[in-house]
Amino acid sequence: MQSSFPTQALPSTAAPGAEPTFISGAPALPNPSTILPSNYPAMDKPPPVDSAEVQQWKQEVANSGISIPDIEPNNQGGCANNTAAAADSSRCWWSCSGCTAEKDIVECPDPLSWGLTYDDGPGFYTSNLLQYLDEKDLKSTFFVVGSRAIQFPAILQAQYMGEHQIAVHTWSHQPLTTQTNDEIIAELGWSKKVIKDILGVTPNMMRPPFGDIDNRVRAISLAMGLTPVIWTRTSPTSTFDTDDFNIHNGATPVQKVLQNWQNILSSASTLDHGFIVLEHDLFEESVEVATGYILPDALAHNPPFKIQPVVSCLGRSLGDAYIETNNNSTNPPPNASSTGTSSSATDGKTTAISDAGRLYPLDIQTLATTTLIVGSGFAFGLFAALRL
Ligand SMILES: [Zn+2]
Repeated sequence: MQSSFPTQALPSTAAPGAEPTFISGAPALPNPSTILPSNYPAMDKPPPVDSAEVQQWKQEVANSGISIPDIEPNNQGGCANNTAAAADSSRCWWSCSGCTAEKDIVECPDPLSWGLTYDDGPGFYTSNLLQYLDEKDLKSTFFVVGSRAIQFPAILQAQYMGEHQIAVHTWSHQPLTTQTNDEIIAELGWSKKVIKDILGVTPNMMRPPFGDIDNRVRAISLAMGLTPVIWTRTSPTSTFDTDDFNIHNGATPVQKVLQNWQNILSSASTLDHGFIVLEHDLFEESVEVATGYILPDALAHNPPFKIQPVVSCLGRSLGDAYIETNNNSTNPPPNASSTGTSSSATDGKTTAISDAGRLYPLDIQTLATTTLIVGSGFAFGLFAALRL
């Protein structure tokens, strides 16, 4: 079957066994040819919860000493379809109220500091973005979907060896507040595992798909060693979301994304702290906007932004982004006494802003039949089932 990848070649292909010398104590790079999809759950589907792996991770969560709040999973449909939950400040449901907890990372401490992030890859266009970042000597955080990491292990290795930060964005990209505890554990656990198998290290940060996180999801994430990273929100109606994800499906015109970016830029320049913006590397259009407009615009900004991965903007070394190489004395991992998930919400407002639309799966037909690799059964099989 013919296929023609519309991507550029990777700027560099990491050799199996290469040493990530930029991280003290990091193991040699595994051979990606040893990563067999048959050893993992089905692509882009919630993993089963009865596997031996999930049972082990459940035990680890139970042993963590972190108590998981007794909260029922939400209905699909976001805030508008869960009005009682959205109004319940004890849940601290970020996507409905902007409520954050002590451990949440939603900004960088220093003014004009930008924690650069891209979500939902690796994908066919990630290499285009990597090439641009290389040219400009920029480093980013990539929140990767486990299902896609296993389809593109060489790209994930190139991201990691390019000294970008790799972090968890679940296995199949479900809205986590709708999932049971076991399902959340399976989503996070398999994503951690596949990244460890490909890179040799395990991320210690996660971003919830759609920003959909409450105190139950937070507690499970922290019990699994994952600190939540969302994005900056300056008011109930102003989040630092470019909406670049929705160019591809036609829901958001590129002009609107550029306007969103201008609004973010104006706001970011006035903050007494740094910021984190939501962007994506899954679609060609999003990567083109990033490399053709947003990043050049940011690089030309005066006064200059300091653009760097989230872990770096927090003043930590890149090694502190991974469980195996984290300096536990200076960057202690979450534990039962430090989660602060049940009582330390800094913003208990429950204005029930409806962004429920962001919780609906988008039209995958457009994706599967247009830009991406029509004719490749492999790619079609991967992307046809995606929930984005
Ligand atoms: Zn996502």
